[in-house]
Order: sequence, then C-alpha cells, then structure tokens
Amino acid sequence: MTSIASNLQIDSARLWGTIHETAKFGATPKGGVRRLTLGDEDRQVRDWFKTACEAAGLEVHVDTLGSMFALRKGRDMTKPPVGLGSHLDTQPTGGKFDGVLGTLAALEVVRTLNDAGIETEIPICIVNWTNEEGSRFAPAMMASAAYVGDFTVDDILSRKDADGVAVADALDAIGYRGDSPVGRQRFSSFIELHIEQGPILEAEGKTIGVVDSGQGVLWYDGKITGFESHAGSTPMRLRRNALATLSEIVLAMETIAKKHGPNAVGTIGEAVIAKPSRNVIPGEIAFTVDCRSADAAIMDALDKDLRAAIGEISARRNVEATLDLVWRKPPTHFDPKLVAAVEATAKKLGFSHRRITSGAGHDACNLNTKIPAAMVFVPCKDGVSHNELEDATQADCTAGANVLMHTVLSLAGVAS
Ligand SMILES: [Zn+2]
Repeated sequence: MTSIASNLQIDSARLWGTIHETAKFGATPKGGVRRLTLGDEDRQVRDWFKTACEAAGLEVHVDTLGSMFALRKGRDMTKPPVGLGSHLDTQPTGGKFDGVLGTLAALEVVRTLNDAGIETEIPICIVNWTNEEGSRFAPAMMASAAYVGDFTVDDILSRKDADGVAVADALDAIGYRGDSPVGRQRFSSFIELHIEQGPILEAEGKTIGVVDSGQGVLWYDGKITGFESHAGSTPMRLRRNALATLSEIVLAMETIAKKHGPNAVGTIGEAVIAKPSRNVIPGEIAFTVDCRSADAAIMDALDKDLRAAIGEISARRNVEATLDLVWRKPPTHFDPKLVAAVEATAKKLGFSHRRITSGAGHDACNLNTKIPAAMVFVPCKDGVSHNELEDATQADCTAGANVLMHTVLSLAGVAS
C-alpha cells in the first residue's frame, strides 16, 4: 500500500453532514427518523443517495427487490467487487444511525478515495439493502435473504404490509423496482459498519467492535389452555389458570437464559388472553418466545430446557401447553480472515477494540452464508437503538468509517 493510502482519513465533517442531511427524510419531532421501507421518505433518501453516488462517479443499478448497488471501478474488472454498505430504512420510531451510518460511511469512503486519487486493484461496490428493518414487510433483511437464496424473489414480491400493499406494488409506487436480477451483482467479500445497538463497547470504553459472530435465533408460538371459570366461586386449589401458568413460564425463561449465560437471552414478548375479563380466570393464552445465542449447542440447550420447564409447569397446574418452533436461524460465524482484517486495521489505526457478538440480525449475517463477510461496530449512547433517542458521537462514527475504509483497501488493494 502506498504511504498516501496508509495515512488516509475520511472527512469527518462531511460524513457527519450527510448523516444529518439525510435525517431530514422522515425526521420526527423528537429527533429521530421514521422512514419505513419503500415509503415516500424512503424514496426521498434513495433519490438523494443515487444522486450522491452518481456525483461520486459510481454506476448505480437497482435489483428487482429495490436494493441499490453503486459500483466504483477497479483496475482489474475481472474480479467481483468488495461490497460495503448497510440500509437506509428505519423503524417507525427509529434513529439517525441504525443502517444509515454504514451506508453513508461507504459513500464517504468512496468520496475520500476519489479526493486522494486512489484507484483500487479490484472494484468496490456500495449497497443499500431494501427492508432491513422488517417493520413494514416481514421478514426483516428480506432483500439480502433473497440475494443468498433463502427466499425466492416472487415470494418476497408478494409479501404484504398491514394495509395489504404488496412489496411489488410498493416498489413500483416509488419507482424502485429495478431491472437487475437479484443476485447478479457478485461480491468477493462484504463489510458492514453499524452502531452496536447494545451497551458493551460504551461500558468498556472501546471505540471499535470487531464483530466475529452473530446470534442464532429461535422463535416459538406457544399456547396454554386451562379452563375459564368464575373468579369468585372457584376455589384456588381447583383452578386451571392459563395466565398463572404463563407467569411461571416467563420466570422459567429468565432462569434458563441466565443459566446458559452470558451468551444466551430469552424473552416472552407477547401474551394475549383469549377472552379477558376481570372476573373470569384466564383459560386460554397465546404467547411468543424469542431465544438467542451465538452458540448452536446453547441454542439446543435453551430449546430442551424451555420445553422441559413448560412440560413440568403445565402438568403441575393441570393445563395443556404447546410450543411450536416457527423460525430457527443458526448462529453466524463471520469469515475468520475478514474478521482478522478488521481487527488488524483497528489496531493499525490505534483504536481501542474488542471482539464482539452481534445481538441483532444484519444483512451481513445473511451474506456470510454465501460470501465472506464481517462487520465493524461503533458504540451508541447508552446502548439505545430502534428509538428516536438513538445517538452516537462524531468521533466514533469517524473511527468506524476509517476502519471500514482501511479494511476495504486491504481487501481491494491499491492499484500501483
Ligand atoms: Zn440496522
């Protein structure tokens, strides 16, 4: 690498400026962003992004699921590009950084390389993946999942939002149903910069998270069937109370996750009493479970222990309980060579860093099933994300963008 390249730094003020400039598309009164995928605010930010990429000399193309690819040529165009990017959609009450940082930092990397007159050996390609958040259309990360073949394109195009609008129609409505076949844009590797969305880096005073893994996920739908009866006249010993049963299961879930910790979490986030009434003993409850770990053996243990606990509690309370697994996503183990490249870059640039597991899902986790991928994390304030209060410092965002740039340069090579 030339000495110009090794001393190269992104333009911190310019990066910070673009983050705040694009935050106006869907800005909320509390300082957050509401930019649901494929809505009009998403169209506005996409148009802005396309214009900025083209102004930076990139060739932009859009695939049939609306994901945007902005290619910067390299000296050797026979090799697939190094991919970098994230997403520009947000949660309904989201922040300015989730996804946005990784996409706009990728743009900043290209702008910096342009300013320095650096040509890479192999091309690089910025991506804005459609619908990472999953709050308007399920599943989350649908475009990258289709990219790696986990879903067919037609399946994803037919998914509908709560108003019955299909992905295909939403894409047409904002003019982003592109003509590139999904998967046609190849990558030699993919790097995603993202805020941590958790408290670890901030608590330990570390600037860079070298993400080596992502949690696997178990989603269940559960149901408890007891017996509805009069709240006044049914003696306590004769009750078959579905809600009391669920209460024990909720606490058992906590105990089980803690037992398998620190790398395990378990949450019962939804519980619906079928016919709620003040003076009726709850007879039927539907609930959901979300369990996660980066270790497949721990995921199996969580499953086994949860089933055993539900069996014991429901038998003791004389109720029926079912637990159906509706989704199992295996843990992600990011490409060891890429993880090492991110780590070496953080070290070379003098940033404090640590290896970290991603608690949330990301497009890079999907991509890693087919191409070498890795992620760079930077701290966010109080670990808060998916919230209008989400915040990160300019210094940390700048550090992350510099690690992203130098990792990409180490992978793409500088043309001599
Ligand atoms: Zn995100």
